[in-house]
Amino acid sequence: MTSIKIFDGNDTIGGNKIYLEENGKGIFLDFGMNFKKYGAFFQEYLIPRYTRGIYDLIHLNLIPHINIYRKDLIPLDLDVLSFPTLNVEAILISHAHMDHCGNIGLLKLEYPIIASTTTFLLLKAISDTSSARLGSDVVYFSPKNQIENGNILESQRQKLIRRDLICTDKFTKSFNNFFKRCVQPRKEFIEGTISNIENRDFGMEIKSYEVDHSIYGATGYLISADNTIAYTGDFRLHGKKGKKSEVFFRNAKDAAVLIIEGTRAAREDINESEEIVFQKCLETAEQARGLIVADFTARNFERLEIFKKIAKQTGKTLIVTAKDAYLLDSLENADGINRMENVLVYEEFKKGKKNWEYYLLNQDNGIDFIKPTEILKEQSNYIICFSLFDLKNLLDIKPTQGTYIYSSSEAFEEESEFDFQRLYNWLNHIGFEIFGFEIIKKSGRLKPKFMEGYHASGHASKSDLIKVIDIVDPDIIIPVHTDNPKWFSKQFDNAVILKDNETYRL
Ligand SMILES: [Zn+2]
Repeated sequence: MTSIKIFDGNDTIGGNKIYLEENGKGIFLDFGMNFKKYGAFFQEYLIPRYTRGIYDLIHLNLIPHINIYRKDLIPLDLDVLSFPTLNVEAILISHAHMDHCGNIGLLKLEYPIIASTTTFLLLKAISDTSSARLGSDVVYFSPKNQIENGNILESQRQKLIRRDLICTDKFTKSFNNFFKRCVQPRKEFIEGTISNIENRDFGMEIKSYEVDHSIYGATGYLISADNTIAYTGDFRLHGKKGKKSEVFFRNAKDAAVLIIEGTRAAREDINESEEIVFQKCLETAEQARGLIVADFTARNFERLEIFKKIAKQTGKTLIVTAKDAYLLDSLENADGINRMENVLVYEEFKKGKKNWEYYLLNQDNGIDFIKPTEILKEQSNYIICFSLFDLKNLLDIKPTQGTYIYSSSEAFEEESEFDFQRLYNWLNHIGFEIFGFEIIKKSGRLKPKFMEGYHASGHASKSDLIKVIDIVDPDIIIPVHTDNPKWFSKQFDNAVILKDNETYRL
């Protein structure tokens, strides 16, 4: 018997936590952080208390009330044993965006995680370069100890535990070595196993297919036992690897159930593609004066490759932040491609370096850094990949002329409108010409207005959603990752809209 239970992500964009059970054996399809639900209580520096483990998250209903969490995250005054348990065999990750995997770090260590090698590399590189947030430490974490009366949890910083990793594609020796490498030397490092999915038995067959999304390594899954269930994760058809997504859907023709993302079910279709973005940004770069700053979503490496191509065609050099460089360099451990060739790394004015930065500096494959003063000398020769949070560095570069290209997602929330005002203030202060968006006054409020062609979404349009559903032709469609599930029931007779914690049985 097959059952599907959606714990979260059925009527919000992100936070997917889908539990699939076949004959008593279960797997989670993603276990992401629900930014919308978190945002109702937390913001920037107002965050869940580390010292209370999952206490705040449980009490604010930000994670499901089931007994599946790491023991060391449960303070004495939290009763988790009264919650129902599940027979979890593994956690499948569709891709490395935190709204899909940002709560996996909370789960019991005994659950192995399944993902593409690229996704694993990105997750480790993200952990290496950022301070751990509760739950987002997906591949490894420092366990906690109960102190005082057991209600306070303290991190054992000298100890690091890596989860068991199951790769959906072949992993190389350098992949293995990368995971052995601890950026922060610890007294104790407990390494989990690394294996290939072909050698594992979960009581169901799991097939994986690369799909196109705004981050590399995105995967769609077909899970079969009595029935075949297809899970799209996030996908699109209009990117460079769009054809790969189509291959997944053609192979999903036998699926009884299609669990599909619907991010754009509430938005109008527009004419877009990564090719259009390339042409538009190239045109802008050719006519640009002074230093060019390109702003696109972090970890959108396809967009980064586009700006690398633009730099080459306009005779300029691309500069990335050290963090981006570390992630780009990590990807080489999956496919052997050197993505740092002809790319420079921005050397920030700051005191001391983190361990991962030393690693980057000591690379023998010749990663080159550039100082702000050197950029100024030939400012019109560079395209630098900065976002709002990096703009303070422009005060050090002191460019006399510049062009800013905004090539990232549009603001849908009121909160991000303030970010755009801030972004505008920075650019206005520094005297940059802006492309990709402008600030307009609408019903007494300042709002960003986006220019066409500078960005293509990471998600499928409505017409593409219809197209792939027609290809798969499933018995049942279950929409997730959408704030408009009703669109699916209007379009299709066989759409099933599940509520939080509701189970569907086949
Ligand atoms: Zn995503």
